[in-house]
Amino acid sequence: MITEALPDAVTSLQVPQASRSAVAVIEMQQVSKRYRIGTPAEVRALDNISLTINRGESVAIMGPSGSGKSTLMNLLGCLDTPSSGRYLCEGFDVTRLHAEARAQLRLQKIGFVFQAFQLLPRLNALDNVLLPLIYAGVPVKQRRQRAFTALEEVGLAERWQHLPSELSGGQQQRVAIARALVNRPALLLADEPTGALDSQTSEEILQLFDRLHRAGNTLILITHEAEVAARAQRVLSIRDGRLL
Ligand code: ADP
Ligand code: MG
Repeated sequence: MITEALPDAVTSLQVPQASRSAVAVIEMQQVSKRYRIGTPAEVRALDNISLTINRGESVAIMGPSGSGKSTLMNLLGCLDTPSSGRYLCEGFDVTRLHAEARAQLRLQKIGFVFQAFQLLPRLNALDNVLLPLIYAGVPVKQRRQRAFTALEEVGLAERWQHLPSELSGGQQQRVAIARALVNRPALLLADEPTGALDSQTSEEILQLFDRLHRAGNTLILITHEAEVAARAQRVLSIRDGRLL
């Protein structure tokens, strides 16, 4: 279990906020990402992406396999940095942050949902949802209440004691969504969140995302399925690393 607090240096984001916008959650300016796969070989996974996403929007990013979706998700989620260009997340210039500050930004501002749920198998639902609160240094007494509230939001409070293996795929994804929500992130970032689910369960999860959007959450959904993308307010298509 991870119970130690983060080092002090990591828990406060010491970044100028002059460029912080009340509206834009995401601002990418001419962002490119190149992977070096040998010398001199290089893959240009993202090519000159400029993108603004405002608070409260729901956006789908669509594209075939290999088009750069996951690379874009990694950049948007501050898991990786661009090779060139500028990326502001909640007004923070991600390209200028050290890895630790980037990790802190990620923890405080972004909730992730993955295709394969990525729950810890030996923790029950509540403890999985608690994890980001532990990382964020939330006092013990508040943690359980907040994790419960998040589980209630996804309609799973009565299953709080269940292990992931005791839950259906759709229920596991609900737990993962509760975990993504529990820190009240500025942005929910979902990479193929229904990719591992049957169509009826997918529909339930998409309805949950619809509801979260109506409640004011900012959503980015990465998908290769047109029906999933059609649920979003705005659909961005990506091909060969370029936005169309
Ligand atoms: P998608 O998620 O749309 O399938 P990716 O973002 O995973 O696309 O990949 C975009 C391109 O970048 C592909 O050509 C892929 O092979 C390449 N790529 C992705 N990750 C790496 C990496 N770590 N090293 C080298 N090339 C990579
Ligand atoms: Mg991918």
